[in-house]
Amino acid sequence: MRIIDIRECTVGLEGNVANALVNFRDHTVSLVALLSDQQRDGKPVVGFGFNSIGRFGQSGILRERLIPRLRVARDEELLTADGLSFDPGAFAKISMRNEKPGGHGDRAGAVAALELAAWDLKAKLADEPAYQTIRKYFNLSSNSNSADVYAAGGYYYPDDSLSRLQDELKTYQDMGYEAFKVKVGGAPLSDDMRRIESAIAVAGAGKRLAIDANGRFNMRQAEQMAKEIEALELRWYEEPGDPLDFELNKHITEIYHSAVATGENLFSVIDTKNLIQFGGMRAGKDIFQMDPGLSYGLTEYVGMLGIMEASGFKREQCYPHGGHLINLHVVIGLGLGGCEAYPGVFQPFGGYSSQIEVQEGRILPSDAPGFGLEQKENLYPHLQLLSETVDGKN
Ligand code: MG
Repeated sequence: MRIIDIRECTVGLEGNVANALVNFRDHTVSLVALLSDQQRDGKPVVGFGFNSIGRFGQSGILRERLIPRLRVARDEELLTADGLSFDPGAFAKISMRNEKPGGHGDRAGAVAALELAAWDLKAKLADEPAYQTIRKYFNLSSNSNSADVYAAGGYYYPDDSLSRLQDELKTYQDMGYEAFKVKVGGAPLSDDMRRIESAIAVAGAGKRLAIDANGRFNMRQAEQMAKEIEALELRWYEEPGDPLDFELNKHITEIYHSAVATGENLFSVIDTKNLIQFGGMRAGKDIFQMDPGLSYGLTEYVGMLGIMEASGFKREQCYPHGGHLINLHVVIGLGLGGCEAYPGVFQPFGGYSSQIEVQEGRILPSDAPGFGLEQKENLYPHLQLLSETVDGKN
């Protein structure tokens, strides 16, 4: 069993939406394909992965550093000890050869795309959905096949209005979502409070609405927002300040009684350790949002869970950033708290395939093998192009 080719391409995201800090119009994603020598229906079995969403493609890192290291690895180095299947952790480890520790930036997403593609491949070779492969590999006993899900949206649009925001949330309600998240920090506080109140009017209660400042606030602004929303008992208050400002995060957890959420911009076990040690996160309450697709893949992510659980936190406190099929399988496979969804935005990677239904705020993956990315109609052409055409042959 071996890898016969590794390919990558950069795909642009569709849409013109913004949070408090960035517009996603120029964002891209690295899509990776691992072609194996194993065949189904006369074609090689291919594993696909990508580096989540909300950042940029990393073609240079993949082409110049990571993929060449995997190409020269011995076949058996990429397999489990029994030689019977691929070992995704080995893909991450080998692609990191000769890299210094620390400085987790775009490299973490590039490695993740490769490592996650190895999980997709491993699950396809076992003819099962990826969440089952993940569960077996990590010896987890949960048999729940659905996850809590909320619709993340409420971005700032070029021609924004409160009625546009309410209509957006109503559309999500019609799709089966019962909890929502909207952006804050991109408008004056009084305007943001009107957005929040309008969103609660649709959601039905503060506990069904989270807000996300995307790290926009300084200490004084973060505190002001915390005081304004205290009585609303929101679902959570996400990234009030810079993701690495653990002092700010700690201060907010001390003055704000509902949940604080953070972690989507922490990319390693050690980053998570620092958050736990210095960020004031409260066991049983606050939300961790590290995203395997941005942080070296699932193997590193499971290390993060290990350090959380050793410190008294529960994996149910994890809602990974990135509402897409890969994280749906990760959430169900690892028994995490739930996942997000971006209905209609961040296409073609965001959201789920049409086979997947949201019912009463819960989501169930389909039984397609792997992450089921092929079932996502607007993503499929990209997968096909990457896996089938190189000099007219596989
Ligand atoms: Mg966020």
